[in-house]
Amino acid sequence: MSEKKETLSIIIPAYNEAGNISRTAQALRQAMEAEHIFAAVYFVDDGSADGTWDEIQAAAGAWDMVRGLRFSRNFGKEAAIFAGLSAAAGDCCAVMDCDLQHPIEALVRMYRLWEQGFEVIEGVKEDRGRENVLYKGMAALFYKFMSAAMKLDMSRASDFKLLDRRAVDAIVSLPERNTFFRALSSWVGFKTAAVGFQVQEREIGQSKWSTSKLVKYALTNIVSFTTTPLHIVTGLGVLFLILAVVLGVNSLVGYLTHRALEGFTTVILIELIVGAIVMLSLGIIGGYIGKIYEEVKGRHRYIISTTVGLDAHREH
Ligand code: UDP
Ligand code: MG
Repeated sequence: MSEKKETLSIIIPAYNEAGNISRTAQALRQAMEAEHIFAAVYFVDDGSADGTWDEIQAAAGAWDMVRGLRFSRNFGKEAAIFAGLSAAAGDCCAVMDCDLQHPIEALVRMYRLWEQGFEVIEGVKEDRGRENVLYKGMAALFYKFMSAAMKLDMSRASDFKLLDRRAVDAIVSLPERNTFFRALSSWVGFKTAAVGFQVQEREIGQSKWSTSKLVKYALTNIVSFTTTPLHIVTGLGVLFLILAVVLGVNSLVGYLTHRALEGFTTVILIELIVGAIVMLSLGIIGGYIGKIYEEVKGRHRYIISTTVGLDAHREH
């Protein structure tokens, strides 16, 4: 690792972003030098299949404040963020996207707030950029659920943040494997501020999220951050217990007054509904058991195959 220890570490997860690396590095260098911020950029290559790693090496050759970590395969953005946070040496760390959808000007504002003593500075989306209606709807539903479960407004949250060293250490030292960075930054507490930003258009390449990846992301985060679905199962159980008592009394009365032959349709409907709810509940419980199993195995969150500009290999 080079001698100089930066003040601000900028962590950038990159998955198939060959076209964006040098652009982003240059834009950051320019802005940081103009603003007199002593910053290093940590690109985390999340198992890209294109020339991303070559680009990162080239960027590191062009500017000595560029560092790179390369994953042995695609471990996902969360893992990339954590790898960057673990490797970062700065007094504060920022996380931003590789596609410049998170404006650098907002990063500077975050840094200034950090200088004023704020420890967790959240990037808050002022609008969600261009997304299709279905995506917006699903995202709204997910964030509504998460916000209710966490008692925090998550609807405009993003992964664009700047954290003080103390907050970074607190997050990095958490033993859990299934993390949700977006929410963990508020979970750790500390002196918090928010910076609003407009989501920029992605100019090069495409969004790396497929629908299935997003659904998986949403489910993992719900399971890792809240046990509300388990309470919903219990709630459904109570509801059906009440129904059972009512219908039970009704049936018994019918039997005792010899009016019990009808109601075949009711029986079928009840069986179907109860069956569906039992299966659904088992699925929810199974989801949690699956996550417990993953956590208990305690595998590495990611595996680093190579680094550039850094001397230590660290695996988590
Ligand atoms: N990304 C990643 N691993 C993945 C998917 C995405 O590191 O498996 C990175 C990607 O390179 C980018 C950031 O996460 O820097 C945000 O991804 P993208 O721009 O595709 O998402 P969107 O802006 O559409 O939400
Ligand atoms: Mg993007």
